[in-house]
Amino acid sequence: MGKKIVIALGGNALGKNLPEQAIAVRNTAVAIVDLLEQGNEVAVVHGNGPQVGMIANAMTELTRSDPERYIPCPLSVCGAMSQGYIGYDLQNALREEMECRGIRHGVTTVLTQVEVDPADPAFDNPTKPIGSFMTLDEAEALKRDRDYDFVEDAGRGYRRVVASPKPKRIVELDTIDCLVAADHVVVCCGGGGIPVVPTGEHNHLKGAAAVIDKDFAAELLAESLDADYLVILTAVEKVAVNYGKPGERWLDELSPDEARGYIAEGQFAPGSMLPKVEACVNFAESKPGRSALITLLDRAADGIAGKTGTVVRA
Ligand code: ADP
Ligand code: MG
Repeated sequence: MGKKIVIALGGNALGKNLPEQAIAVRNTAVAIVDLLEQGNEVAVVHGNGPQVGMIANAMTELTRSDPERYIPCPLSVCGAMSQGYIGYDLQNALREEMECRGIRHGVTTVLTQVEVDPADPAFDNPTKPIGSFMTLDEAEALKRDRDYDFVEDAGRGYRRVVASPKPKRIVELDTIDCLVAADHVVVCCGGGGIPVVPTGEHNHLKGAAAVIDKDFAAELLAESLDADYLVILTAVEKVAVNYGKPGERWLDELSPDEARGYIAEGQFAPGSMLPKVEACVNFAESKPGRSALITLLDRAADGIAGKTGTVVRA
């Protein structure tokens, strides 16, 4: 029986630069088309750290080259560019793989905005470093002119930091829903979505200088689409306790209560495994019958068949 699945792709699904991405998307397409071949409906969310970093660095260099002519490019615009570039590669890799296997599905990338709460406490404590390293003088000028926040990063220079607020609402949800129902593979909420806040004027949504965690965006999408499965594909086959330490133990199943206990013990690294486990718990508890899976990209189909990965189920 086919299921409705939201997949969250980690950094290893796309690689760190242009040539790596061109190769990585082919493996990624194989894993996704395996799920289509089993009769599932699929929406795909992906990370964008290296890609948005590359675009933001390029835009910074452009401004540095001629500050009179090129004003700094907002992070929301860099995020939109990264969704387009990643969607372009993923869409093509998926189309090629489907054509090779004789599968006829549409494949569409939806530029996606995700509303965040301007009162989210994350805005008072920006933690996510982005873009290139700068000198103290450059950082102070941008702080003065544009109110950017900076941190000193391990003796390598200064880097801009932005907030990582929680996603509240997917603006293009109805479009994504229609496309999934029409049997399209939909690439959306890339990089966690372009964060926006309503301004209250003219129904305008203003891009926010922030980064939404793609695992939380995928969870919100899975709930909003009434999906059966949230599948987080990453660089480990299973979640572990005592990860990388003596007594390491790989988990086949994880209940929300067990997960909360392990979270309290600090078993999952913040910024990497922690948001994945939290997203899975939230999804599994959001409605009876929903479950979540964390596994390796190329074990996705086996994971859904119950053969591997860590399953989170209430
Ligand atoms: P992605 O790009 O897929 O979001 P991340 O690097 O953010 O990947 O997170 C996945 C990484 O989390 C794994 O490769 C692993 O090194 C790390 N990790 C941290 N804690 C754990 C844990 N308890 N069990 C398994 N992996 C963990
Ligand atoms: Mg991550």
